[in-house]
Amino acid sequence: MKQRALPYPDLILFNGKIRTLTYDGALVEALACAGGRIVAAGQSDVIRRLAGPDSRQIDLQNKIAIPGLTDTHVHLSEKGTAEKEYLDCRDFYADVHSIPEILERLTKRASEIPKGSWIVAHGSPMQDFRLKEKRFPDRHDLDRAVPDHPVSIAFGAHITIANSKALALAGIGRDSSFALNQCLERGVTTIHDIVRSGEPIRAYQELLREGRLDARVSLLPRVIESHIGSNSLIELGLHSGFGNEWLRIGGVKMSIDGGITGRNACFYEPYEDDPHNCGIIRIPQDELNETVLQCHQAGLRCCVHAIGDCNWLSTPERMQRLVRSGIIAIPNISIGYYVGDAILDCVGEKRLAKAFPFRTLLKNGVTIAGGSDAPGYWPVDPLRDISACVSRKMRWGEVLVPEERISAAEAFAMHTTTAAFVGFEENDKGTLDVGKLADIAILAEDPFEIPGERIKDIRVEMTIVGGEVKYQA
Ligand SMILES: [Zn+2]
Repeated sequence: MKQRALPYPDLILFNGKIRTLTYDGALVEALACAGGRIVAAGQSDVIRRLAGPDSRQIDLQNKIAIPGLTDTHVHLSEKGTAEKEYLDCRDFYADVHSIPEILERLTKRASEIPKGSWIVAHGSPMQDFRLKEKRFPDRHDLDRAVPDHPVSIAFGAHITIANSKALALAGIGRDSSFALNQCLERGVTTIHDIVRSGEPIRAYQELLREGRLDARVSLLPRVIESHIGSNSLIELGLHSGFGNEWLRIGGVKMSIDGGITGRNACFYEPYEDDPHNCGIIRIPQDELNETVLQCHQAGLRCCVHAIGDCNWLSTPERMQRLVRSGIIAIPNISIGYYVGDAILDCVGEKRLAKAFPFRTLLKNGVTIAGGSDAPGYWPVDPLRDISACVSRKMRWGEVLVPEERISAAEAFAMHTTTAAFVGFEENDKGTLDVGKLADIAILAEDPFEIPGERIKDIRVEMTIVGGEVKYQA
C-alpha cells in the first residue's frame, strides 16, 4: 500500500477493479481521496481502515475504475450544446399546436432526467401565431409544468423563454455547463477547448466562481482568423499553465489549412475528383514561423490545425520530421469514424489506405494523443474514439486499414497519460497514482477484456472530478 500522511479521506472507493494505468499496469481494489487528490491506493480492507467519521465510502461492486479521460481537441464553447440534445417543440417538425402540448413534452423530458439537469428546447420562430392560445408559454406556465429542472425554450433566434429555476441559474455559462455535463457522462474530466473570443472565457470564469465548473478546462485561444489578436496572451505575459487546476491557459491554436469535407485541406497532390485543387494554405509560412516562434519564446504551447498530408499521407520522412521537431500528433479518428467512407471519393484509395496510421506512427516514435473535434458534428466521446482505434471498425460498418490497429492500452494512453503530457499536466493527471488529482471514471465493463468494437458501448456509471462525484448514471 502506498500512502502519504493527510487528514481523514473525503472519499474512499473500495471493492473495485481499479486500473491505475501506471507504467507497471498496477491493479488495485481501493483508493482514498482527500483534498481533491488520491492519498492512498491498495487493498479494500487496508484502505477502508483509513476512513474517518465523515468519509464517504463507495462500494464499486467490482466495477472498473480508470483515470478520468481527456479530450485534447474540442470546440465546446463554440457550439454550446450538440444539436441532438435539444428537445424539439417546433411546430414545423413536431406535433405541437398548443401550450399544453409543449408543456407535456417538457414534463415528459423532466421525468426522464435527474432533477436539476437542464432541459433546452427549441420552438419555431413566430410560433405564437400558430399556437391555439395565440401566445408563447410564459415563465409561469413553465414553472407549473417543470418546477425542479431549469428549462429554456428558444422560439427562433430572438425569443427565449425560461422558467424561474433557469433564470436563477443565470444565462451566462449555461451552454458551457450543459456541454460539460455531456463530457462527464462519457467519463471525460478534462477538455482542451478552442475558443475564439473572450466570451466563453468569461463564461468559464463565471462557472468557476459559482462552483459550477464540473470538469477541468484547458483553454486554447485561437489566434489568426479570430477575435483574439496573435499577441494578446504574449502581451499579458501569460504562459501555458496560467490559471489553476480547473481552468487554465493551455496554449494557442491556429489553423494552417482547411478541412477535407470542404475540400480545402492542403495536399501536395490534387483531390482525386478535382485535379486542379490541392486545397488552401491559410497562414503564409513567414507568418506561421514568426507566430510559432514568438509563442514558444513566450512559453505558450502552439496547437496547429493541419489536415491534408499530415493526416492522410504520412510518409516515414514526414514522421521523422515530427519526431525531430518534438511535434505531438492529435489525429481525430472521429472524422474517419463518421465520414471516412464519404471521404474516399475526394482523397482517393491511395491516401485513404494510409489514413490514421496509428500503428505506423507509434512504431516510428511519434507521440499521439486523442482529440475528437466535437461537438459541432458529433458528441465528445473518447470511448467511441478508443473503440475505433482498437477495432478500426467505422460507423458505416467497414474496417478501415486494420493493420493500423493499436492496443486498448495504447488507445487509452492517448486520452490519459499522453493527453496529460500534452497539457504539461503529467504530474497531476493521467494515472490513478498517489498524489495525483482524484479524477476517476467508473465503467460498467472492463474495456481491456472485451472486443475493441464494444468499448464504445460501455456505460459510464460515475465520473469523479477532484474527489467529488460530478456525474452518476
Ligand atoms: Zn477543431
